[in-house]
Amino acid sequence: MATKKTQIQNDAPEQSAENTEVVESKIYKCPSCGNFLHYDPETKKLKCDYCDTVEELEPVAPAQEQIYHVGSENGFIPWQGVKAIRCRSCGAVTMLSAYETAVKCPFCNASNIVETNEIAGLKPNAVLPFAISKEQEHTYFMKWLKSKHLAPFTLKKEAKKQDSQGIYIPVFTFDSQCNGVYTIRYGQHYTVTVGSGKNRRTETRTRWYVDTGVISNFFNDIQVEASKSITQSNLSKMGGFDTDNSLEYHNQFISGYSAERYDKGLDESWAEAYTIMEDIIKRMIISRYNADVIDYVNMNNTYSGTTYKYVLVPIWVFNYKYRKKEYGCIGNGRTGKIIGKYPKSPFKITAIVLAVGAAVALIVWLYIKYFM
Ligand SMILES: [Zn+2]
Ligand SMILES: [Zn+2]
Repeated sequence: MATKKTQIQNDAPEQSAENTEVVESKIYKCPSCGNFLHYDPETKKLKCDYCDTVEELEPVAPAQEQIYHVGSENGFIPWQGVKAIRCRSCGAVTMLSAYETAVKCPFCNASNIVETNEIAGLKPNAVLPFAISKEQEHTYFMKWLKSKHLAPFTLKKEAKKQDSQGIYIPVFTFDSQCNGVYTIRYGQHYTVTVGSGKNRRTETRTRWYVDTGVISNFFNDIQVEASKSITQSNLSKMGGFDTDNSLEYHNQFISGYSAERYDKGLDESWAEAYTIMEDIIKRMIISRYNADVIDYVNMNNTYSGTTYKYVLVPIWVFNYKYRKKEYGCIGNGRTGKIIGKYPKSPFKITAIVLAVGAAVALIVWLYIKYFM
């Protein structure tokens, strides 16, 4: 442990970062039994797994928005008081608080993991702590599985003892004021009756309009995933995160969990947020018109007063095997909402096909008997 600590200090490029480490590398040990304390979402305190002793958290202020400009990332400070673990199976790099040891990769369950000298990357400035405990998330998982009528009976039985891993994933959020002008060309359909006699028919035609206007909108916390393991579409399927409630980053919240290092930089994430916002503005403009068809929308938007947060958000990851195939689900650590894949029972599918077939056969038989 001594060598690891030396390593961290050697990596520290400047005085201020070392000071940060002294504050943050507090060892979260139980005062009664010496075991590690982990952040407990139910009590919102640090709790010992072995003797249930709870310790108060250090007080933390709400997260502050940071002013964004291209290259802001250069001002980030290194993430201290954590160590990096690389998974040789899936390649994920996750952080643990410096005094914990990992036995398997939180993303894929592989035990083929190594502690690496890779730097932990840049320190998040915000964290949205877990609000749903492992036990509570398991209840959501069982409910979700229960609602999947095609899932095999045996799986539901096995899932009772299914374990999950709590991981914080990196997300950048952006606030920005958008002001713009636009020109739109849109069409409205109308029908006319043409021809005469046998050739009399209706045809659809389009009347075209051009309009210009101004638009403005304030965007609050547009979320862009910066993770290697979670896609943007999964982020929105999970329902997003209440990043407005995030707190100033503190290592105490990742005690007992792991955290993924970000894989996508701040400027790249801003470029994605920009695309998302431009798309929203375009839809806002289109919704002003009773258009059946859009020819073009030309926009000239400026974004000002842009701020960001680099925030860790909590998810629960379930990995399980069923008949040698791997399945994965993730749960929103704030709301419990589960998304993911599950095996479908060939037996149940066959039964449904047979039942539908039998119903069709019965209808045909009745029809022939009574109507033919
Ligand atoms: Zn204890
Ligand atoms: Zn892995």
